Amino acid sequence: MIETPYVIGMHRLTARTYVYLQPPGTWGFSNCGLVAADGEAVLVDTQFTLPLTQRLLAAVRAAAPGARVTTVVTTHANGDHCWGNQLLPDAVTIGSAATAQGVADEISPEALAHLIFATPGGTALGAYLRRFFGHFDFAGIDLSPPEQTFTGEAQIAAGGTMMRLLEVGPAHTSGDVIVHVPDEGVLYAGDILFVDDHPVMWTGPVSNWIAACERICETGARYVVPGHDGSRGWTPIPRHRDRAAPRHVPHPRPQQQRRSPTHRSSAPSTNAATRSSPRLRRRAGPTHTTIRPGRLKLDRIKTTSSPKAL
Ligand SMILES: [Zn+2]
Repeated sequence: MIETPYVIGMHRLTARTYVYLQPPGTWGFSNCGLVAADGEAVLVDTQFTLPLTQRLLAAVRAAAPGARVTTVVTTHANGDHCWGNQLLPDAVTIGSAATAQGVADEISPEALAHLIFATPGGTALGAYLRRFFGHFDFAGIDLSPPEQTFTGEAQIAAGGTMMRLLEVGPAHTSGDVIVHVPDEGVLYAGDILFVDDHPVMWTGPVSNWIAACERICETGARYVVPGHDGSRGWTPIPRHRDRAAPRHVPHPRPQQQRRSPTHRSSAPSTNAATRSSPRLRRRAGPTHTTIRPGRLKLDRIKTTSSPKAL
């Protein structure tokens, strides 16, 4: 059980793993992962801007003094997870082939900055963009897509600590990857996992997102790190999955929470066949732990059956 205030910075999860929290977790404020062992380190994602990534890297150096960041894993192509990659020129960047393509397909930093400030502030869109993106400094960003790509699954290591990179997209984006550290019981979910809210589904389909959540459960990881947020409640993986495809098992509504604009996508329509299918009934399974960076409390949750049940 870990209890840490939801404050910006690097927090240790296990002997060799860390999470970098980025409150408030809304648009552009993403979490990152760090695995450090035997003088080497692997960083899971960078930040939205160069100043934010510099702050991340200072935290990396403080957490793992002297460790060389050999690899940067890009979980997906959204800028808030990879627009700081250029600040690690000596590290190999790795991600799915679809993510490498996705980086080129995303809106560029220059175009985003132009959109924010060229849209009249008196309009609803202009006000929204200024409110949630106007404080980011997108200057100087050179897009750095993953230079090593894979499809399906790959393995990397930091020192003697092995990591499995599992491609689970298209779901949130075209090339989502989750990072499993088996020996530490940790999984970095990228934006496959938000905290106690409906995710943003840029790509879909919903079925892939469900399968991704099931795959997270299958790993047996004790600590599951979401790509954003965490301050406002739990994200039991089954409940997160159910937001993507509600089923017949009702969940009690969580306590009133302030919603993140990051998550204000409309929920997909409920599929009646999915709700009623006996194959989808929850079964007792292994227990997992998920981060609740409200206090960064790790607690146990029940998981469900294998993906084959879907
Ligand atoms: Zn994100």
